[in-house]
Amino acid sequence: MAKDPVEANELPAEERIKGFQEAVRGYSQEEAISEASRCLQCKNPACITGCPVNIDIKKFIWQLSKHNYAGAYFTIRLMNNFPSICGRVCPAEYQCRKACVLNKNKSSYASFEAINIHFLERFIGDYGMRNNLEPKVEKHPKFSGLKVAVVGSGPAGLCCAGELAREGIKVTVFESLQSCGGVLGYGIPSFRLPRDILAAEINYLSKLGVEFRTNFLVGKTITLKELFAQGFNKIFLGLGAGVPGFLGIHGENFCNIYSANEFLTRINLMSADKFPRYHTPVNIGAHVLVIGGGNTALDAARCAVRLQKINALRPDVQIVYRRTEAELPARRFEIKHAQEEGVRFKFLTQPQEFLGDEDGFVQKLKCLNCQLGDADASGRKRPVAIKDSDFELDCDLAVVAIGLEANQILTGLTPDLVTDKYKDIIVNPENMETSLKNVFAGGDIVGGEGTVIEALGMAKKAARAMIDNS
Ligand code: FAD
Ligand code: SF4
Repeated sequence: MAKDPVEANELPAEERIKGFQEAVRGYSQEEAISEASRCLQCKNPACITGCPVNIDIKKFIWQLSKHNYAGAYFTIRLMNNFPSICGRVCPAEYQCRKACVLNKNKSSYASFEAINIHFLERFIGDYGMRNNLEPKVEKHPKFSGLKVAVVGSGPAGLCCAGELAREGIKVTVFESLQSCGGVLGYGIPSFRLPRDILAAEINYLSKLGVEFRTNFLVGKTITLKELFAQGFNKIFLGLGAGVPGFLGIHGENFCNIYSANEFLTRINLMSADKFPRYHTPVNIGAHVLVIGGGNTALDAARCAVRLQKINALRPDVQIVYRRTEAELPARRFEIKHAQEEGVRFKFLTQPQEFLGDEDGFVQKLKCLNCQLGDADASGRKRPVAIKDSDFELDCDLAVVAIGLEANQILTGLTPDLVTDKYKDIIVNPENMETSLKNVFAGGDIVGGEGTVIEALGMAKKAARAMIDNS
């Protein structure tokens, strides 16, 4: 008889919302082995094609099932530099798990039966980290004089830096924020990605000789031309998509209306949850609205619940979304967690206008009901506002989480760097080189908002091209 999938341990929701400790506790060794033993070791493993970087999933699961944890770790590391991170944040249900032959739901995302590949990857990644397993460093003398500048320390920048440093190339990472990690540090909350995992990855890169220069905005502080003049032979741009989109509706400038980026940065990077011990508060209120339906909106809503709880308020957080639950772009896993933690969803609702008090603080959000119309260019059904259906929602803090755009500071100051209509950098997909010779790019600044694993895939390709042509 087929075995049931092994679910990973989770903290109960009422415990989770008391703070920012990790919500999902992962597998024990026995649970990992048991889940690995469900894998059919398919002749044509569809899971591998479902993975954006084609990890040999079948092989690593086999090694794991035979207790060869180190072997499984190195199988994953061939394609993915950060298994502990990706095992926690990869939207596996839309990728490898969706493709798994055991998935009974062939339409949009993986069903319960698909192998929990992400939890197995996490188990192996954590094993590798605990046991200081690292791929061989082969510093080639021919690279000893080579210097590469990596701009941006998100997953793309960190991955590129690691690939180059392991070959003996001298790498300096320039980061405009005060600490490294990009979205992994300022965006994804620690209840999904504990910060010691990110710190361990950055620490490993430092040990490899990578130099990190924070509070350094390339473009303003130094131009690309000046970097070359300072002796850098090649440059990698991992600038991300850090500019928040806004609704453009009346009243959006009232106090206590945040972009998701600012809200999450205040909490994740500047410890707003520990105010007044740290000096960056979030003026959390009794009625919080988060507008949007992606991972960013879910992260903001779950942070808001925790801040309310920490401030002895009864959690009252609603996600306002123009379509229905079926169209929510966020991970199913995160939607379930948010619901368990008390986040409510107001579907088929279109924001019209924020209303405020005489001191300029937001009080209400005026909305219209919607219905779904024909599919739009993305294939999702278009929300159509229903005339005269307006109503108001109480709101003393709002977070706008409706998408992110390219950060244009550097590209705007580098006219020869060719971008597309969205201001994303155009690259040669074969080697990730931009219109400027010896300047490469990858991650969200190429092709727009994506995923961590996609950023890693692009960075690896760029690093390989830099190494091969040096
Ligand atoms: P980023 O992570 O954005 O890093 C870019 C870095 O470059 C930043 O640190 C920025 O400060 C720096 N920078 C920019 N310009 C300059 C400059 N001129 N000089 C110096 N430094 C500069 N993906 C998933 O796979 N799973 C998830 O669960 C998930 N959740 C997410 C939740 C949130 C809240 C957000 C915002 C995104 C999420 N994503 C998720 C998407 C994922 O995080 C991104 O696809 C990924 O981080 C992109 O990596 P990157 O290195 O290209 O850019
Ligand atoms: Fe195992 Fe599923 Fe991959 Fe088949 S498709 S090898 S069952 S993980």
